[in-house]
Formats: sequence, structure tokens, C-alpha cells
Amino acid sequence: AGGAGQAPRVPRYVRVNTLKTCVSDVVDYFKRQGYSYLGKAASLEDVSSLSGKKFLLDPHLPELLIFAPQTDLHENQLYAAGHIILQDKASCLPAFLLNPLPGSHIIDACAAPGNKTSQLAAILKNKGQIFAFDLDAKRLATMSTMLVRAGATCYQLAHQDFLATDPADPKYSSVRYILLDPSCSGSGMVSRVPVEEENANLPERLQALSRFQRKMLAHALKFPALQRLVYSTCSVHQEENEDVVLDVLKQWEKEFRLVEVLPSWSQRGLATCAKAKCFLRASPKETLTNGFFVAVLERQPAGASGPR
Ligand code: SAM
Repeated sequence: AGGAGQAPRVPRYVRVNTLKTCVSDVVDYFKRQGYSYLGKAASLEDVSSLSGKKFLLDPHLPELLIFAPQTDLHENQLYAAGHIILQDKASCLPAFLLNPLPGSHIIDACAAPGNKTSQLAAILKNKGQIFAFDLDAKRLATMSTMLVRAGATCYQLAHQDFLATDPADPKYSSVRYILLDPSCSGSGMVSRVPVEEENANLPERLQALSRFQRKMLAHALKFPALQRLVYSTCSVHQEENEDVVLDVLKQWEKEFRLVEVLPSWSQRGLATCAKAKCFLRASPKETLTNGFFVAVLERQPAGASGPR
């Protein structure tokens, strides 16, 4: 971690875009560029001690490579060609944990600028359909360029409020998966310097965000064929994370339950919250990533009563 006033150093994570290439080709490419490959990381220390032109394979995500902090690959040929995506490890978790089957229909409710959408397209092998929504036209335009570069084809972008979508619309009758990554305070982003007025109004701001996030989650759970949903934020605040999920689930506990995923992930939900083990948290200190939160919900099997 960095000293006082300094942003902590988080490694540079590189997601291999399997729509265009594969891990071994990317590893070979970097070796030819003078990097040395150390294989799969065996411990957090392996990752935190990365320096110079060394790189590792991530132990949790099989398509993620790890480089030393501050490695700048924005000018790299593979990045320009869409073969690699520069995406923090924590932000790779939602699509990875949603784990949709190729051929399925998915809603990406808050999709722009689209890193998670392109990851979903890769998991689907471009087979199926992703309905991707966002309110922000500029971010959608960036997203459109990025998805073309990544070779994703199985998506429809809509400049639309997710809350205005009709869950009963036949168009969505086969949607079994939803990724919900709503706007949040961004308090987990290491590079983000909060503006003063944000801090001054933090309680009110968190309340407003939390209300919005609850509305979005409650709306998502209304889709009739939904089987699995991932809720994520890049916030560290309980109000936007555990509180949102636990509160909305109270009204849906007959239909949906939390699932405990990725047992090898060390950092779980806040210990003071119910179901803490079902949540994943991420942070520069414990997971060497940005601050992040993920919860996975699944429809209860038919006939089940109450969550387990
Ligand atoms: N999932 C994106 C990714 O991986 O690149 C990042 C999403 S960002 C955290 C949240 C997005 O939600 C913003 O782009 C914002 O414009 C969008 N948004 C906010 N309210 C929305 C709404 N009611 N319907 C759809 N999108 C919304």
C-alpha cells in the first residue's frame, strides 16, 4: 500500500479476450516483448512482489494476467486490437460469477462503458443475447466502439432507463441471468479522488444511492425467467452493498436466496452483517484490487420455502 496521501499500488490486471485470442498466445506475445512469465500465482505475496517486466496468471480467474503496478499497456498492440482488456480483477468477478451458459439471454442493466458486457460476450462465446442498457449516451458510444474492437456480436445496446423496462415484455421472457452493476459512490476506486462536497454530503448521498440501488435490484428480480443475478458495486459502503441486498431480499425470500460463491476468496461481507459469508468484498489491502462488492442471488428451487 502507498504511504499517507498516496494511492495504494494495485497490480495491472489484463483480461485475455477469448473472442479473439487465448491465454497461451498472449503469454507468448509478452515473452517475445521481453516480459518473463512466472506461471500461476501461488500466493498474494507472489502478486504483491511483482516488479519490472514479470507477469503471472491469476489464481482465481483463468483468463486474467497480472503485471506490476503502473505497467502501461494502453499503447500495446494487443490492446489496440481488442485481444486484451485492461480490467481490474475485482471488476472481472461479476461476469465470471454470473457464469451464463452459451446461448442464454442476459440483461446487463447498467452496462456502459461495457467491460463486463464484453466479458459476458466472451463467456457466451458470442452465442445468445445480451440486452445491455444504459442512461448515458456518451458512455454508450464509447461502449459501442469497445465492443466492436473486442469482437462481441451477441448484444443489443439500448439507451434506456432499466427501471422503464417491462419485465413482462415477451422480448425478455427467456432472460435467465441479470448483471446489475448500478451507479454507486465509487468509493472503492483507488485512483478516485473524492471532491470535497461529496464528502460533506456523504450520508445524504449514500441514502440516495442506496434508494436507487434497491429500486434497481427489486426491479431486476421481477423478470419472470430469472435464475441467477449478480449485484456489484465499486463502493466500500455497507449502505450500498450488504444493506441493499439484504433489505431487498427480505421481500423476495420465498423466491430468491443468496449463494455462497468462490470459497477460496478470503475477503467476505462485513462481519456485522447477516449472511456475511455469502458476500465478496475486495480491497487494495486484502485482495490487491480496487474496493469492490459482489453478491450472487439465485431463484429458490420450486417448492422451497424460505432461504437456506
Ligand atoms: N457495468 C459497467 C462496466 O463494467 O463497464 C459499469 C457500469 S457503471 C458502475 C453504472 C452505469 O449505470 C453508468 O454508466 C450509468 O450511466 C448507468 N445507469 C445509471 N442509472 C441507470 C438506469 N436507471 N438505467 C440504466 N443505466 C443506468
